[in-house]
Amino acid sequence: MGRRGTSERPLRVAVIGSGPAGFYTVQRLLQSKDLAFEIDVIDRLPAPFGLVRYGVAPDHEKIKNVIAVYDRLARDPRVRFYGGVEFGATIRLGDLARHYDQAVFCTGAQTDRRLGIPGEDLAGSHAATDFVAWYNGHPDYADRRFDLACDAAVVIGVGNVAVDVARILCRTPDELATTDIADDALAALRGSRVRSVHLVGRRGPAQAAFTRPEVEELGELPDAETSTVAAEVALDEATHRALGATPDKGTLRKIDILQGYAGRREPEKGRRLAIRFLLSPVEIVSGPRGEVSAVRLVRNRLEIDAAGGVRAVPTGETETLAAGLVFRSVGYRGVALCDLPFDERRGTIPHEQGRIHDAERRVLTGLYVAGWIKRGPNGVIGTNKPDATETVERMIEDVLADRLLQPSAPTRSEFEATLGDRGARFVTYADWQRLDALEIEAGRSEGRPRRKLVRHEEFRRALSDSPPR
Ligand code: NAP
Repeated sequence: MGRRGTSERPLRVAVIGSGPAGFYTVQRLLQSKDLAFEIDVIDRLPAPFGLVRYGVAPDHEKIKNVIAVYDRLARDPRVRFYGGVEFGATIRLGDLARHYDQAVFCTGAQTDRRLGIPGEDLAGSHAATDFVAWYNGHPDYADRRFDLACDAAVVIGVGNVAVDVARILCRTPDELATTDIADDALAALRGSRVRSVHLVGRRGPAQAAFTRPEVEELGELPDAETSTVAAEVALDEATHRALGATPDKGTLRKIDILQGYAGRREPEKGRRLAIRFLLSPVEIVSGPRGEVSAVRLVRNRLEIDAAGGVRAVPTGETETLAAGLVFRSVGYRGVALCDLPFDERRGTIPHEQGRIHDAERRVLTGLYVAGWIKRGPNGVIGTNKPDATETVERMIEDVLADRLLQPSAPTRSEFEATLGDRGARFVTYADWQRLDALEIEAGRSEGRPRRKLVRHEEFRRALSDSPPR
């Protein structure tokens, strides 16, 4: 085969997943000025942008501005979007090997980690990630129902996802009504009777995973009193030692903010948000009809572990919080992909600097990973830039060394013929631009950034009702 990456024979790359990791991979590839590319971005959903559309909270509109960067990349003539094409269903690894020189998997982390305690599956106990996907209008969650008729909810975990969930529960319907929250979720939250939310961390404020702006924002909620318990946010001996002589300023600031919330009273507000620390859930307690009625927690103390970290040690003292709803927010987890190796323990695809390898550490030529399915579910959107850079550097090295897949049908028309054979009707980027315009237009009269299309049939109907110009 002749050299690949020339204008006669562009390098054909499949990027599976159109979230931040997918688009930063595209961006880094296109920065390789000496190579000509044909990059196909393939997503199982009709709408692009993955976690930016389906994970970022509706009241964090500004964070979504990053879509402008991805939009520019998607409009580049070297890039094509194939929405509604599922890897593992519509196409498999053999298809990618037939049509592409390289494939990068950027599929994120699509499920949740479990707590492993009794009561986790009671009615009213939910993965926070499901609630997030539902209120953001993810098609797979369109028919989920969350019964918000109880007075109190417990959110377990103190990461940024837990903060998002607590904040959405503490916002008034009027605050949410100007966002792009899914219509069904807005209607359900309008009827919510939840007035008290407990956000529960197993370690102390210095170890909380949430970031400073997020915890600051909790203190500024218009209709929720945010409080902490003074004894739980005081600096303990183990943390003091772990922070050392030159403690991280960001951590100190977070502790400061949380101490500022201690004992706060704002009775004029309609909702209560209690941020609690040093408590681990041991049981989700069942009511008479098998529904969540409370969460039993054990109080922890902190100690330095062998690796120098700070760990929670149960004291035996317990506390029970009455609640009709529980959101378990202890992290996302990656899902294995058909035909590819998977590290069950970490929930990621095994790799060396982005090159996928099998259990015996043999590199699978031409196959790469980037984003959460590579490094696990951590970091913010921007963390995907250096992550993608590392993967793309290895990809370019492999192009130069001719370590590539050997596709027998390396053209877009042949790939599209394969999709046609499978009966797949894919969404192009031009289709998405029409859908995007429709969503924005539908939101305009209500003062919302957009009204999201949610169900697959809504996308299909919108496309057939608005033929291309
Ligand atoms: P995360 O940041 O990893 O937080 C997970 C939380 O769960 C931690 O507080 C952890 O406590 C706790 N936890 C784990 N196992 C537990 C157990 N068995 N019992 C009790 N608590 C347990 O995960 P995430 O909140 O899902 O967020 C994922 C990533 O997305 C993060 O990098 C986050 O910053 C990012 N994100 C960012 C934003 C934003 O920028 N606004 C919004 C959403 C998400 P320990 O520390 O004690 O393990």
